[in-house]
Amino acid sequence: MIRLYDTRLHKKVDFTPLHEGEVRMYVCGPTVYNRIHIGNARTFISFDMIRRYLEWRGYEVTFVQNVTDVDDKIINRAAEEGCTAAEVAQEYTEAFIQDMHAAGVADPTIRPKATEEIPAMIELVQSLVEKGHAYVVDGDVYFSVRSDPRYGTLSGRNIDEMESGHRELRSDGQGIEDRKRDPLDFALWKAAKPGEPAWDSPWGAGRPGWHIECSAMSHKYLGLPFDIHGGGQDLVFPHHENERAQSECGCGATFAEHWMHSGMLQVNAEKMSKSLGNFLLLHEVLESARPEALRMLMLQTHYRSPLDFSTERLDEADAALTRVENALSAADWACQNATDDALDALDGETLHSRAAACRDAFADAMDDDFNAPAALGGIFTLVGELNTAIADKTLSVSDAEAVVCATDAIRELLAVLGIALSDEAGANDYPLEVVPLAADIAGYGGTDPMQAVEALIEARARARSEKDWGTADAVRDGLVGLGFLIEDTPQGAKVTFEG
Ligand code: AMP
Ligand code: ZN
Repeated sequence: MIRLYDTRLHKKVDFTPLHEGEVRMYVCGPTVYNRIHIGNARTFISFDMIRRYLEWRGYEVTFVQNVTDVDDKIINRAAEEGCTAAEVAQEYTEAFIQDMHAAGVADPTIRPKATEEIPAMIELVQSLVEKGHAYVVDGDVYFSVRSDPRYGTLSGRNIDEMESGHRELRSDGQGIEDRKRDPLDFALWKAAKPGEPAWDSPWGAGRPGWHIECSAMSHKYLGLPFDIHGGGQDLVFPHHENERAQSECGCGATFAEHWMHSGMLQVNAEKMSKSLGNFLLLHEVLESARPEALRMLMLQTHYRSPLDFSTERLDEADAALTRVENALSAADWACQNATDDALDALDGETLHSRAAACRDAFADAMDDDFNAPAALGGIFTLVGELNTAIADKTLSVSDAEAVVCATDAIRELLAVLGIALSDEAGANDYPLEVVPLAADIAGYGGTDPMQAVEALIEARARARSEKDWGTADAVRDGLVGLGFLIEDTPQGAKVTFEG
């Protein structure tokens, strides 16, 4: 049984989907006015991990994530750049999707854009006006917070102690405090200002407020109630409190059955944010770091805890990943060189049962509110056991079967967390310089670094058998110079890339 921490209830609860075998979830997407930073990425990676695990547990997951493509920030950016808001939104929507792909985040099942869902938003605002939960002032429409007796229940706030938060501005920069009946009320619909994107509505031309889009889209694509609503912890109030209030008052149904929020990524104990200027853009970080290493770093901290980012920690995560890759490539190599005539060198049964225990421990950890750090800990334990088991051994065919059982478990479970390692572990990192080296010494004519290494090793074996020590040494020196380690074993030369 999966248990998850529900923000509204402040505790872990058993998770039973509303529709058998299916999970419907909604995670708020980005406002597309610039590239996302690694703080935003942490939230998207956390929910990607949660979704992948639910799928691995056999649920069919419908994952909806909106794109906020109409907003003050987009309009301001367009004014700065001398282009239209639609152009800004399109550029950064494309960049966002590209960044998510680069980070290994799976596409949502549905990715609705706010500007394409205006009729559903108007319908919801209309229903709120009709039911007395919203009122119109000169083309603006406001939600009346005090009309919802449950306002504050998600974020655990008492309405009488609430401040109105930041002062909301109308699109013309004029304060709206005097237009609202109560400072706590918030805009559902904003009257148009000349030159800004606007749509016709029963209240005149205008555009939607931010919160209403998620209410309208989740209702349209998932139906109410749906299983899980997610986002970063900074969205609990006011965004999610407002979404919940609008949806429940407008539709007369529970909105989300469970609320899940991921912790903030921080730098020097301060939230990473655009406004503080302490941000690192995801695409820039991925220019020098592997996406798998970034994810390893993210998942080594529980998704609800704050995560302090530093490049040193990213390097450590990369080193941890390399240790796993080296263990897998050593194991793959030992299996490829297993022989029929070798005696069993391993306690195969133990390795089989350790792999099975690792799978169980993984599921237990992930069932407990998606405890990825504990799940990774179990995988690292199996990696250590595998290393010890195969060290300095020549494997028999039945040994190799036990080893493959362990390497399969390691690869599969890491993939569930979104850390996909290729079958040729480590080969992706081979330096490109190995290609001209193989062309020079081994007459290699291709462009693939892995094949180039194979060609060099063959050339070295041939040279040694012909006592051509000059060529054999040239291969060794060339590979060592590029960061490879060569070990001669009874089964031939074993090459690992040390970097
Ligand atoms: P925004 O475009 O600002 O609405 O943010 C998109 C997503 O990123 C939201 O789910 C936010 O909660 C999340 N987010 C923003 N800053 C951080 C941060 N420093 N750490 C984790 N998540 C964040
Ligand atoms: Zn939202």
